[in-house]
Amino acid sequence: MPDSTLEAMAKNHSFWQHQYGPYTANKSLPTGHYQADIVIVGGGFTGLTAAREIMRDSPDKHVMVLEANEIGFGASGRNGGFNMTLFGMEPETTIMRWGKQKTKEAQRYMQQAVAYVNNLIENEKLDSDYEHTGMWRVAYTNSQEKRLKKTYALLTDIAKPNSYEFYDQHMVRKKLNAPQIKSAIYEPETGILDPCKHVRALKQLAEDAGTNIYENTPVIDIRKSINGTIIKTHHAQIKAKKVILATNAWSHTLPGPKKIQNRQRPAWTYQIVSEPLTKEEWKTLGWQDRMSIEDNRQFVHYLRITTCGRITIGGGDIGYEYGKDMNKWHDPKIWRALEAHFRWLFPTLKHKKFDCQWGGAVSVNFDMTPEIGFIGDENIIYSNGCIGHGVSLTQLNGRLIADLALGIDSELSRFWIVNRNAVPVPPGNLLPYLGVKAVVGVLKGVDWYEERGKIDR
Ligand SMILES: Cc1cc2nc3c(=O)[nH]c(=O)nc-3n(C[C@H](O)[C@H](O)[C@H](O)COP(=O)(O)OP(=O)(O)OC[C@H]3O[C@@H](n4cnc5c(N)ncnc54)[C@H](O)[C@@H]3O)c2cc1C
Repeated sequence: MPDSTLEAMAKNHSFWQHQYGPYTANKSLPTGHYQADIVIVGGGFTGLTAAREIMRDSPDKHVMVLEANEIGFGASGRNGGFNMTLFGMEPETTIMRWGKQKTKEAQRYMQQAVAYVNNLIENEKLDSDYEHTGMWRVAYTNSQEKRLKKTYALLTDIAKPNSYEFYDQHMVRKKLNAPQIKSAIYEPETGILDPCKHVRALKQLAEDAGTNIYENTPVIDIRKSINGTIIKTHHAQIKAKKVILATNAWSHTLPGPKKIQNRQRPAWTYQIVSEPLTKEEWKTLGWQDRMSIEDNRQFVHYLRITTCGRITIGGGDIGYEYGKDMNKWHDPKIWRALEAHFRWLFPTLKHKKFDCQWGGAVSVNFDMTPEIGFIGDENIIYSNGCIGHGVSLTQLNGRLIADLALGIDSELSRFWIVNRNAVPVPPGNLLPYLGVKAVVGVLKGVDWYEERGKIDR
């Protein structure tokens, strides 16, 4: 691995941040007392899209974005880049918890979200390396295939016509030399992007619309005051009429309002990227359609091609922490497991090396459903619970949050995840930790059962 890549990892950078090259962050918020119409805490997809949409609708507003690190540091700059329609964990869990009508509405929202991202990139000519490639969801074993067929039936029932196709092994083999894949659901209306380029392009759009963005400016206190909210950083204080908490997996670490601290907890997911493939290797592999791929395990693996001719693979096991720490950036055991899965999946690429590895936190709430809510008098809006599927979701959420902040009654602002009754995280550190451990254990058991004796990596 080149020294510069090692350096990037040491700084907890993702491959995408590394590939981006030199980046000059905006200056942090200078010492002083300020007033703003709206302060947005967190500069990822959610915060930046909300900022831009607010400014487009209401250019006279004074909107400030405060980002604790540099733009691209959060999940938005380190994800797989799948612009996809999966809502929450699985359609099966959504339907079980929320019923068919709400699952249909969620599916419609997600299809709209993918289109929102696609149109934004096209209309604004964003340099996000976007490819509208389509996606496969694949099964490796008979049990997984049986479940995949049920998922296909469910998805075709809740989504608009022609959203999905089912590929048997014969069709799969025509398109990809991955003999372990038994069958796939193909979803054409999805795509892949470079998340770091994209989130920094969103920063530019938000600034062009008139937003003031401050990087390396952590918020250290949030308190209600007469006619507004006081937001403190290390050197400054702002009085804001409205506040948007767009801190996703960090939300439980925010100081101030108690409610935000029990909405979600982080789960860590890890990725690795291969060295570039040769022309000959691509030819042997097929993959000409460049579709992204997820398997249908409980602990999914996700794979895709990069524009520079590599393959990234992520997922498998996850990391979780005791208490409020946010430090699980590295997990060599999971990285090695990802390498093993890659080699098992692509026997023709067994010899490939891996150039970069990283991790990142996704926001998981206890009923596995995204949530947008209010604190107190509706002047503080929060959003979290992407469950690892937030590239499209959080950007349309940004538009939705703009509607809420501006008091616009719209189809988006009436989406049922707004102000829903989320199951709070149990109090303290021990109960949430044991709860996550128990759920992880059960889901691992399902994977073991469905793959027993069939998969030998
Ligand atoms: C490894 C990985 C792979 C993923 N792959 C996919 C995928 O392929 N497809 C998909 O749909 N989703 C994927 N996701 C999920 C997706 O990336 C997220 O849902 C989405 O980026 C969340 O955006 P966000 O703006 O809400 O949060 P983030 O991008 O996490 O932004 C939150 C920001 O808040 C800042 N912050 C935190 N605390 C403070 C504070 N006190 N003061 C100021 N700022 C603060 C953080 O620094 C951070 O930048 C993946 C996530 C990870 C980690």
